[in-house]
Amino acid sequence: MQDKLYIDGVWRAPVKGGKLPVFNPYTEQVIHHVAAGGPEDVDLAVKAAARAFPAWRRTSGAVRGQFLRAIAEKVRQRKDELARLSSLNNGKPYAEALIDMQDVASSFDYYGGLAADLDREQDSPVSVPDGAFRASLRREPIGVAGLIVPWNFPMVTTSWKVAPALAAGCTVVLKPSEVTPIVELELGVIADEIGLPKGVLNLVTGLGPDVGAPLTTHKDVAKISFTGSNGVGSRVMAAAAAGPKAVSLELGGKSPIVVFADADLDIATECVVNGIFFNAGQMCSATSRLLVEESIAPKLMARVIAAAKALQPGDPLDPKTTLGPLTTRAQYDKVLSYIAKGKAEKLDLILGGDRPEGLDTGWFIAPTIFGDVPVSSPLWREEIFGPVLCVKTFTSEDQAVALANDSDFGLVATVISKDTVKAERVADAIDTGLVWINSPQVIFVETSWGGFKASGIGRELGPWGLDAYLEVKHKARRISSAA
Ligand code: NAD
Repeated sequence: MQDKLYIDGVWRAPVKGGKLPVFNPYTEQVIHHVAAGGPEDVDLAVKAAARAFPAWRRTSGAVRGQFLRAIAEKVRQRKDELARLSSLNNGKPYAEALIDMQDVASSFDYYGGLAADLDREQDSPVSVPDGAFRASLRREPIGVAGLIVPWNFPMVTTSWKVAPALAAGCTVVLKPSEVTPIVELELGVIADEIGLPKGVLNLVTGLGPDVGAPLTTHKDVAKISFTGSNGVGSRVMAAAAAGPKAVSLELGGKSPIVVFADADLDIATECVVNGIFFNAGQMCSATSRLLVEESIAPKLMARVIAAAKALQPGDPLDPKTTLGPLTTRAQYDKVLSYIAKGKAEKLDLILGGDRPEGLDTGWFIAPTIFGDVPVSSPLWREEIFGPVLCVKTFTSEDQAVALANDSDFGLVATVISKDTVKAERVADAIDTGLVWINSPQVIFVETSWGGFKASGIGRELGPWGLDAYLEVKHKARRISSAA
């Protein structure tokens, strides 16, 4: 496991020294220490990225794409080891961590392809109404990008930023979460192995105020892409305003899953349970608000409760485990405090509400379900980021849509119905960046990721993810003088 900063192609200790502990949430023990970077290290990393930028932007998209595909290949070769590190540090079941690594490799492969396409699309003609002119379009990399990521999907949220940024021709300074930095540090090892030019990818570990904040104010950083909480996201945007710097924000969610009476109950159960208990509910896309048509509520809830009870909490590295601990002590305390609020409000606690029986260590919380939650409750309105499902019934399509949209957030939604016309209509009416219909949360790298309303600004994945790191430039050439 790496314990230094990766700056300008070299592993180095932070200027002012200092280490941060990294925990295993299953044992609650410290498993490693990483470097506690500071503003001086951010400055070194940004300067290295700025020095590397002119040559990297001139490198053809085809060659940049080859580097990205080489990263994808290394991730695939090392997927078992990387998944194990992620599972150890994050607490997610090993099988879930393996899915993450496949996602990471796909992301680097996909943007490898788009980097090559970018060459072909340069200087494409733009039609203008005056025949005396020829206009054309170029896409230029925006510059040095500061990439700040959270702890719930280490490497996934990172690859969704690093891959398009490098594809576009930007050089980057990546700040992993202080909670789960050990997998991201392996990206530095991979960069070395594939011979990525020095300074193109720099990694600075450390606390948010010590590393993230100086990145958002550094004058040589042109773009900040941030994934994390709404509170920090607002601070990032305010800091970037002084530049001004371009900003993309991927923030929180409080997403609805709408189940109609004509739903296939097997599909509905799978989608409800995975939508809130996968990764112990620590998903920005968790469908934490279940809206179920009143007439099938008892039948659906019986199945959901049975499936939730069947989840197996335990050692994330044990193949039988399907529910890991929460990743941090702070998150464990936060989720328990929401559960305590629900109990104090005398909400209908249908399942869970405490630690799972028989597990004395590890930051575990049992699958928890509250029924008939009022829309005014903080449990209904705020992102809990844990295995806590809130349920409400509806009696009409209009009511379902109104309840689904009654949120400050707008990241994702799920709609379950055998009536595909109705399902599409409801999906169109819900204000979120992504809607799954009769589907678990499958993410295609070709489609967009990002939210309406307080869930963020901008989009990742697909060509929109690349656009986030590109400037638009037009050239207009006069080819004949007016008579
Ligand atoms: P967080 O906001 O606490 O931290 C995110 C990152 O920001 C970390 O690397 C942290 O060190 C850094 N940071 C902290 N203070 C900073 C500052 N002042 N300036 C710059 N950077 C700073 O979030 P978290 O607890 O790590 O992650 C959970 C949150 O992330 C949830 O709200 C979740 O919904 C959100 N999330 C969103 C998406 C999405 O795609 N929309 C994906 C994953 C997670």
